[in-house]
Amino acid sequence: MDKSAVLKYVSSFISILCASYLETLILGSRFATPSLLLFTGVIILSFRFLGKGPAIFALVVSVIFSFNALLIRDGEFEWALSDFLKLLLFVLENAMIIYIIDSYIKQTEEGLLKEKRFKTLIEESSEGFMLVKLNGSIHYHNQAVDRITGYHQDELKRISIWSLIKDDDLITVKEHYFKVASHAGSAVTIQHRMKKADGTVIWVENTIANHLENKSIQAVVMNFKDVTARINHEQEMGDFLGIASHELKTPLTSLKAYTQVLEMRLKAEKNTNTIQLVNKMDKQINRVIAMIFDLLDVTKLQSGIMYLKKETFQINDLVSEVAENLANVHHSHRIDLDLDENIALRGDRARINQVLVNLVTNGIKYSPGSDKLIVRTAIIDNAVTVYVKDFGIGISQLEVKNLFSRFYRVSSVREAYQGLGLGLYISNQIIEQHHGKMGVDSVENQGSVFWFRLPLASEED
Ligand code: ADP
Repeated sequence: MDKSAVLKYVSSFISILCASYLETLILGSRFATPSLLLFTGVIILSFRFLGKGPAIFALVVSVIFSFNALLIRDGEFEWALSDFLKLLLFVLENAMIIYIIDSYIKQTEEGLLKEKRFKTLIEESSEGFMLVKLNGSIHYHNQAVDRITGYHQDELKRISIWSLIKDDDLITVKEHYFKVASHAGSAVTIQHRMKKADGTVIWVENTIANHLENKSIQAVVMNFKDVTARINHEQEMGDFLGIASHELKTPLTSLKAYTQVLEMRLKAEKNTNTIQLVNKMDKQINRVIAMIFDLLDVTKLQSGIMYLKKETFQINDLVSEVAENLANVHHSHRIDLDLDENIALRGDRARINQVLVNLVTNGIKYSPGSDKLIVRTAIIDNAVTVYVKDFGIGISQLEVKNLFSRFYRVSSVREAYQGLGLGLYISNQIIEQHHGKMGVDSVENQGSVFWFRLPLASEED
């Protein structure tokens, strides 16, 4: 036992001795039960200031003193059951007190440890964490925020969150922020630009979460990381794809024109064998052109320059037109129509046409074992939903959630079916730009129903 521990035990012994002296001084040699409380007080204080061991020691010493005071009279042991019971009760009570205080301390220590662990994790995280109040003031931030923004700790306390956001993105960020703030427990992840203290601009991926009703937080939490390098890389890739596709488009269009001239000449010469080869060549050129258009669309979407040319059109007319055109090209499948009332929509007809063509050609492409497709429309609650049902290979539930991501292709079809994995991504973006929604219900080996919903034309449109 080291010196300080001995000192603690000695202190608790002296305290009990003093208490016992006080007891006898005030109450005479046979002090009564309530006065044992003084010992209890000393035991509690020993626990508080000296620890569990000295407290137990104080209990033992106080029992010895009380034993002496209660059961020994004029040096003779005098048995009295009531006094003995008092003593027993005293021991039990104090043992209980020691146990309760001990568990309480353990619990508090555990709580503190958890809090410390959590705080260290947040503090040393490479991602920025900020607790933002509704008025935009930064209530708390971790060290990563200083590092990412370049602002000093004290400056961050003074400025508002809005002064960190690049002006061009301010409205969008505010919109998301207040939308999240008005829905308890909601969260959103967005990418936007941030202004650093030195004026440079960075891209961040920011998750804004509403913890206003969480008593220990009571703020909107912003958790963000610097994604400038990734965005720049994507931008470079996009620029490259944009330039490459644009440059490829012109020679390919000429190539297609030459093929058509060649086909006409061969027809005039009645050279049927070579016409078949030229037709095959034409099909391949069409595929490359379609891919290039997809790549160009992706770059347009990425740079936010896919503009819609809105007009009012009848949905059933569009569906019938697409079905007829595709049925003329794809003789392998019959396209059955099941159309609701013919109603007006306002949007970019060519783009909606593109979405429908994509869904129907996918339906044909991914159902080699079947010979029909059903296209259905249904008007519900001021919106029209178009369903494209096939009886093909279907998609597993695991893959469904990624289907609308850029370049995503289901692993099992990559080898067997050609494609870039862009059609659904582009289609989904087009539908979102029309404030609509797109989805899929699919069962593996049974088929899929791809659908999109568009709001009906309103009077303001
Ligand atoms: P692509 O067909 O060029 O690969 P899409 O973006 O149109 O690109 O489709 C993405 C992926 O979704 C496809 O690779 C395929 O795995 C899956 N998919 C799309 N439509 C269907 C369908 N009707 N049935 C089964 N799988 C489909």
